[in-house]
Amino acid sequence: MLSGRLVFMSVNSRIPGFYKLTPPERFKTIVERSGLSEGDLASLAATDGKMLAIADRMVENVVGTLPIPLGVAANFTINGRDYLIPMATEEPSVVAAASNMASVARIHGGFRTSSDQPIMISQIQVVGAKDPQAARLRLYERRQDLLDLANEQDPLLVKLGGGAKDIEVRIVEASGKTYVVLHLIVDVRDAMGANAVNTMAEALAPLVEQITGARVRLRILSNKADRRLARVRATYDCQALGGPDVVDGIIDAYAFAAADPYRAATHNKGIMNGITAVVLATGNDTRAVEAGAHCHAAAQGRYTSLSHYEKDDAGNLVGTLEVPMAVGLVGGATKTHPVAQAAVKLLAVKGAQELAEVIVAVGLAQNTGALRALSAEGIQKGHMSLHARNIAVAAGADGDEIEKVVSRLKDGGHVRLDKAQAVLAELRQSGG
Ligand code: NAD
Repeated sequence: MLSGRLVFMSVNSRIPGFYKLTPPERFKTIVERSGLSEGDLASLAATDGKMLAIADRMVENVVGTLPIPLGVAANFTINGRDYLIPMATEEPSVVAAASNMASVARIHGGFRTSSDQPIMISQIQVVGAKDPQAARLRLYERRQDLLDLANEQDPLLVKLGGGAKDIEVRIVEASGKTYVVLHLIVDVRDAMGANAVNTMAEALAPLVEQITGARVRLRILSNKADRRLARVRATYDCQALGGPDVVDGIIDAYAFAAADPYRAATHNKGIMNGITAVVLATGNDTRAVEAGAHCHAAAQGRYTSLSHYEKDDAGNLVGTLEVPMAVGLVGGATKTHPVAQAAVKLLAVKGAQELAEVIVAVGLAQNTGALRALSAEGIQKGHMSLHARNIAVAAGADGDEIEKVVSRLKDGGHVRLDKAQAVLAELRQSGG
């Protein structure tokens, strides 16, 4: 421990020109700088040459890639069509829970979805306006000029039926200052849209300064994508869920989340387990979707559950979910990452709206799966097999040893690292 700490403290992180090096050169540099051996860090750089070259074009200072497990959720039927849904996640039980709940939802026809048009908002912050209220109205008077200038930036988007459609001007008071905030409302079609709307906002800044007689500071999209909601509902069969008591348990769990932000954060995290996994698998921006979702959860001024649960006349559970879903098919990593491209092909969605709807269906299935487990046998039982496998590997088990350690841990009822280490030592001592 001590020597590791000393090595860590001696690192000099100032590396001029690091970004100009190739990935293997960067790797060599960090090995030298860290004082660790090439073997200690080999996993950081273990990737094939083609993927390394792609990664090096995607972000800065690349030395390698991080492979995340990619599972395919089965059993989903959405609006009468079946889907095989790629999910990238490091968390055990997520793919299983989604697939499991999708099979229960199938009994009553699967998931029904709808979504808004792909509308994003770009914000332009005006500071120091002498007459903020009048400046606000002057911007509205020049609405068409602003829209025309925005649309000149992206003729392709306009040709596809998208583009800047409207403006909205708000007054925001903060720390004794008054900001005029122009919202540019843009239909981004099959794009996530951040680059598209940011380009427009930057191009509008000089005209906005001229109209308001003040200075523009920020020009950036809002991740509060509340005009781009995707919705899903599903009926889960009471018996298939485990009976009326499980249904009541899920409704109690939902009511708890709706009322208590401590519970709501975990409830919504469960929803995002499903959503983020598909967003990541398709090369979309997980942070953008997560920021939008949590902001939506607090849209009424108090953080609450994103989903709702109720009972139908027959006692079945009816789940609904509505979340902003800024995902695309044409830009970002979706266009550059080969795994994302294959994932989109597997989904066979026709547009970004259909992708958004598939994603919220997975979010609802995931949420219901977690609530069912919590309301019935508890979450740990379902988690245990995969968790035990991870613990066995963490203890150093390899090959055949892994399943042997897993089975002994489960029999013993304690899935803990110290137990796994003890079991592994025993196994090795006894030669098997
Ligand atoms: P992009 O600029 O790569 O693609 C959008 C462009 O593709 C459009 O402007 C249009 O000209 C063209 N296009 C071609 N076919 C289209 C179609 N069918 N529908 C719509 N447009 C089509 O990407 P983007 O979607 O504008 O931006 C997404 C990227 O921006 C993501 O990588 C995201 O991580 C990043 N980003 C996010 C934020 C944020 O969320 N705050 C900020 C900056 C950047």
